[in-house]
Amino acid sequence: MQRRSVFLMFLAVVLAGLTSAAWVKGQAAATAAPPAQTAVISATPRTAHFDPVAATNAYLVKVPPDKKARSDAYFEGGYWLILWNFLLYTAVYLLLLVTGWSARMRDLAERVTHFKPVHTFLYWTQFVVLTSLLAFPLDVYQDYIREHKYGLATQTFGPWLGDQLKGLGLAVVFVGLLMVALYAIVRRLPRTWWIWGAMASLVFSTFALVIAPVFIAPLFNKYTRLEDPAIRDPILSMARANGISAKDVFVQDASRQTTRVSAFVTGFLNTERIVLNDNLLKRCSVAEIESVMGHEMGHYVMHHVYKDLLFFGVLIVLGFAFLRRGSEWALGRWGDKWRAHTVGDLAALPLFALLITTYFFVLTPLFNTYSRVQEYEADIFGLNAARQPDAEAEVDLKLGEYRKLDPGPIEEFLFYDHPGGRTRIYAAMRWKAEHLNELGNRD
Ligand SMILES: [Zn+2]
Repeated sequence: MQRRSVFLMFLAVVLAGLTSAAWVKGQAAATAAPPAQTAVISATPRTAHFDPVAATNAYLVKVPPDKKARSDAYFEGGYWLILWNFLLYTAVYLLLLVTGWSARMRDLAERVTHFKPVHTFLYWTQFVVLTSLLAFPLDVYQDYIREHKYGLATQTFGPWLGDQLKGLGLAVVFVGLLMVALYAIVRRLPRTWWIWGAMASLVFSTFALVIAPVFIAPLFNKYTRLEDPAIRDPILSMARANGISAKDVFVQDASRQTTRVSAFVTGFLNTERIVLNDNLLKRCSVAEIESVMGHEMGHYVMHHVYKDLLFFGVLIVLGFAFLRRGSEWALGRWGDKWRAHTVGDLAALPLFALLITTYFFVLTPLFNTYSRVQEYEADIFGLNAARQPDAEAEVDLKLGEYRKLDPGPIEEFLFYDHPGGRTRIYAAMRWKAEHLNELGNRD
């Protein structure tokens, strides 16, 4: 259920350089409090006294302790990775500034040609390649070694590296074009660049969102139409019942990279599509798939993608205002040392990357909370649309393979971009408790 990953990836790339927006990769820093232990009952009673809390506990104890400890460790490690990413990229950007490498990359770009837009593109290319190389060991650890260690990855090193290089190429070319536009704006509008820069970034993000499902996503995975009528038809029926005119459901061959069960809504305007991944298809019952697709349709019907643009639009404008203040202050203090004198000087780009990375790092809980609230809305919509509370609970347990099932309330508030397993299962059991008469003879 990682519907915004492409959009967030692009926003992050736009604002922070290739891989520095740590909040996209995981969930934020902090150790987790041990999960609260709650009394457990052994079965789900199907009487008028159906107790949603007890039913929730009954689901949660189905996970063997060793599996639970493993997924808790995986997820909590992700909190620390956010911190390590932030610290690593901070160090890399400072290194580029303090050692004068950034100034040298600018000088090199200027020696090649006198055409300014090409300077920007050449500088950007060096910047992306160099920062990626410096961050490569951490990337290998967190995206390859660690994923394999927890049994979540399926790729061998060669294809994994191939995907990384594709991402690098996209960052060089696509974001390079944005950088050319942004630097043209900064140089022509020295006082108001931050407003126009924010607008240009927003337009670029919107464009990226439109083209992502059609041109970007297929570079990494195959998308095929779901043909099996036993699965497709109930999904399309639910779509029609909820006013969605979708004719197709798409399947992503995510098993190429991962064992995770997932589905998402991607795209914008006419490129919007509902996608489920092949792991979900292989491992879940039709009822479970329906419950997931009900959730995804919730995102669609409640226009979450448009709300995202509004939310991120505001944060992009605020982010650029912060960039302006922060860059003027830092360049006034250290610009001479760094041989980066004005905001329009390419040598100052690592400073912008540093500021925006800090901005996102600090706002991590806000992004998570924004996302989690929408995910909860989609859960509620999905329960009403699919009417499969027990299937929903089973899927929540499967998602618990890579997301800690039972976080403490503060931990969930700060670090979860989706509700925790307990919250989601409880919502399903609460729904069930209020619909017992209608569900009478099901499952
Ligand atoms: Zn979702």
